[in-house]
Parts: sequence; C-alpha cells; structure tokens
Amino acid sequence: MKIFKTLKDFLTWRDALTEMQIGFVPTMGYLHEGHFSLVKESRKNNRLTIVSIFVNPAQFAAGEDLSRYPRDFERDAEQLKKLGVDALFFPTEAEMYPVGYGTWVNDPEADTMLCGPFRPGHFRGVLTVVLKFFSLVRPASAYFGKKDYQQFFLIQKMIRDFHLNIQVVGMPTLREASGLAMSSRNSYLSAEFLVQAAYIHQTLRTLAERIRRGEKDGEVLENAGREALTKKGFRVDYLEIRNRQDLAREKMAGLDSILFAAAHLGSTRLIDNLEVSGGSL
Ligand code: AMP
Repeated sequence: MKIFKTLKDFLTWRDALTEMQIGFVPTMGYLHEGHFSLVKESRKNNRLTIVSIFVNPAQFAAGEDLSRYPRDFERDAEQLKKLGVDALFFPTEAEMYPVGYGTWVNDPEADTMLCGPFRPGHFRGVLTVVLKFFSLVRPASAYFGKKDYQQFFLIQKMIRDFHLNIQVVGMPTLREASGLAMSSRNSYLSAEFLVQAAYIHQTLRTLAERIRRGEKDGEVLENAGREALTKKGFRVDYLEIRNRQDLAREKMAGLDSILFAAAHLGSTRLIDNLEVSGGSL
C-alpha cells in the first residue's frame, strides 16, 4: 500500500495512473468495521481503492471536539494495508487549506434540517472537503455510510448539482452487538455510557415497529421517542420522521419513512437513523 502525505506525491502517482476504475473512501480515521465495510465494497467493485484520512477542521463548529477527535494513523494504516487498499492519502491541514484559501461549497438547505441547525457550518465543511478530495482523487465511485444519512444525501445532491461523473454508493450502518451504531466517537464513551448509548437504536426500532403496525401520527411518535430518550438521560437535539426522497418532514409516518435521532450522552453527541421498512440504515 502506498502512503502519501503530500499533495505533490499523491498527484504524481495519481496522474500516472491509466486505470479508470478507482474506488474512493474518504474518512477521518480512527477506523472501525463500519469504515472497513466501505473499503471492502470498494475493493470488490473497483480495480484500485484509495482511502483518505483527514480530520477536516472546516466541518467542526466552534466548541466541538476537533482537538480531541481520536487519531491513530499507524493502526489505521496497518489495517488498511491488510484489507488490500492500494493507496492511503493523508494530507495536512496546511495543504488542504493553505493561507488565502477561500472557496466553499454551500447548500443553504443543509443548514435548515436535522444536524444543520445544531452544527453551524458543518455541511459546508463536509461538502467542500469532499469536493476537494473528488478533484484530487478523480474516482469512478465513492463510498459513504448511511449512518451519516444527511451527509450521504447532500453529497448525492452535490454530485448532481455540479455534474460530477462519480457514482456514489451508500452503505448500511454497521452496529455493535448491542445495536449501537459504530462510530469513532464511541471511544469517548465510558463503559456505562456505552451500554446506555444503545438505547438510541432501541428507541428507533420501537418507533419503526409501531409504524409498521399501523401508527401514523408523526408528531405523537416523535414525542414518544424524544421522551423515551430524555428519560434515559440523553439530551436530545432532534428525533424526527422524514421521507426518503427529499428528507422532508412527514406528518404521516409510513413504510417509506426514515427515523433520525441526534442526542448527547455527557459530552458526546451521537447520531443514528433507521428506515422503517426493515433493513437498518
Ligand atoms: P468518518 O470517519 O466518521 O468521517 O466516516 C467515514 C465514512 O464512514 C463516512 O461515509 C461514514 O458515514 C462511514 N461510517 C461511519 N460509521 C459507519 C458505520 N457504523 N457503518 C457504516 N459506515 C460508517
């Protein structure tokens, strides 16, 4: 596996490639099985797989966990090598955002829903860095987790809006045995909070089950979910039922709905979602 830490080295290698079928998995590192599932899918469907690790400062709002975000480059690199990744791209902040950097991808709608209002500028940072990586890596396909469903949705929209010729693949959420969605941020949780955190998924499952049994009133269901989480000690940012097509809020829940939640346990913010019609997202 090649490891590139400068844009120059990466681009020298990339520009010399004749292979077109390149799969790309952008990450912030501290990798877990969720990330690996994306890598494996890329390996299965492409001739070359490139993974990036970059803790993108632009997507952390003021006061968020940028400085304490977990990092372990050596372990990540070792695991990616074992998985047969062709190249690991690990650029510096100074190269990604040099002095004078000034162009941003902004989708105003992103800031109005779900995580948007709670994380000002987050999606602007995400979309910008993903577009920058797309320009550098020039993949045929890029792999994203549906755990970050809003991100996945916005990237698909950006691809359409900018006429990018990249196939975006959304992968299901990998979970711990308890149901807790795997996340690098789970490393912040104490043993006690780790047990408690699984309650988000359980709550969404209970709501999905109620909808499958015929309950429809979105507000009643949302309130029930929010109350259940609050009672268990979470500080809830949102618990919402939205539709799959455009993520619009749904007054009437149905089999096509997706349940979204974001809640804090202590100083850790957790997100999760679940599609009502069976499979886990
Ligand atoms: P991150 O390093 O958190 O930026 O995540 C990199 C990619 O891995 C994103 O596309 C995430 O949605 C995806 N991802 C993170 N956690 C999971 C998970 N539990 N299951 C599947 N994909 C995930």
